[in-house]
Amino acid sequence: MPTIALQSISKSYGVGPLAVQDLDLTIPDGSFTCLLGPSGCGKTTTLRMIAGLEHPTAGSITVGGRVLDSVEQGTFVPTERRGMGLVFQNYALWPHLTVRRNVEFGLRVQKVPAAERRTRVDAALAMMQIATVAERYPSQLSGGQQQRVSLARMLAVNPSVLLLDEPLSNLDATLRLEMRAELKRLHEETGHTIVFVTHDQLEAMTMATQVAVMKDGVLQQLAPPMDVYHRPANVFVAAFVGSPPMNLAPCDAEGDGLGGLARQYLQLAQVGPVDRVATVGVRPEAVRVVDAGHPGSERELAFDGQVRAVLPTGAAWTVSLTVGSTELYLVSTDEVDATTGNTIRCAVQRKALHVFGPDGDRLNL
Ligand code: ATP
Repeated sequence: MPTIALQSISKSYGVGPLAVQDLDLTIPDGSFTCLLGPSGCGKTTTLRMIAGLEHPTAGSITVGGRVLDSVEQGTFVPTERRGMGLVFQNYALWPHLTVRRNVEFGLRVQKVPAAERRTRVDAALAMMQIATVAERYPSQLSGGQQQRVSLARMLAVNPSVLLLDEPLSNLDATLRLEMRAELKRLHEETGHTIVFVTHDQLEAMTMATQVAVMKDGVLQQLAPPMDVYHRPANVFVAAFVGSPPMNLAPCDAEGDGLGGLARQYLQLAQVGPVDRVATVGVRPEAVRVVDAGHPGSERELAFDGQVRAVLPTGAAWTVSLTVGSTELYLVSTDEVDATTGNTIRCAVQRKALHVFGPDGDRLNL
């Protein structure tokens, strides 16, 4: 299946602001694309337009140059002729059919011979770990099991494009983790093109080959997950991706907090037009605890922080600090030996400082 391209797509529901605004999005063949953003940012609307369940108000959608949707040309290819498999969060299962018959449904429609049907259904049930409930009805299943049945139903049909809208949202934490690994493995094995809607940045980070971050119907950044994490396009992306989130502070001239310290440091390091920097950001894991009195340098900003709380998570130590008038989180995989009220010395590499202009966009000083 060739590349899916959305060009200048907008969607209005007739009330309120545009649900999706002038969206250009390329989904390469074989990619795992996550549409990521907070509730109401237009992810589901975008997915439904790709599926043909919703009409764009403007723009076009093509697959390998074939027009599926074009408002300008008046073209519309219906859902069933798009060759895409859909799983929605509340995708209804047939209540009067057993799990096995539900999973088999699409294959019967396609008139797949019985023996092959059985093999494919068994494989899908096994992959989703629901073989033991194959003879039950949907009403006899938990929400998580129902969600797995709808995934199995889609996998059995083996479409070349999978459109998934928060398919893991009803699963408990352990199963979610397992399913992430399962979906990633499935993607790597089959080379399916997957478009996956989620508001969970960790889900996007762990599975996607590219992440499309959206806010208020507008695409903020389209990039591989590591780029989104290490080079966020703007303050919104910087704050949305990462847990605990990036420390962000206004970069004011007088401030005694992280922003003020960073400003003085950037001026001393003569990195460029520091006056253009409105906000400075540091990822919690980029803040290192160093020895008392550790001097800063051209390559490193050093400062003191007062410990507000030490929060060991088992695998790491999260420390909440007060730096002047600002608060800051650091995460360390080495034990942080500090108690509340103590002063500790911290250092941040210059290359780990993110800077943003007054419009919130990333600056490359
Ligand atoms: P969520 O994660 O909550 O599902 P989302 O990012 O998927 O959110 P959409 O469901 O695409 O967002 O909604 C985008 C905007 O369009 C929202 O403001 C929503 O209220 C609006 N919207 C969605 N569906 C409709 C509809 N059928 N009629 C009117 N407005 C709608």
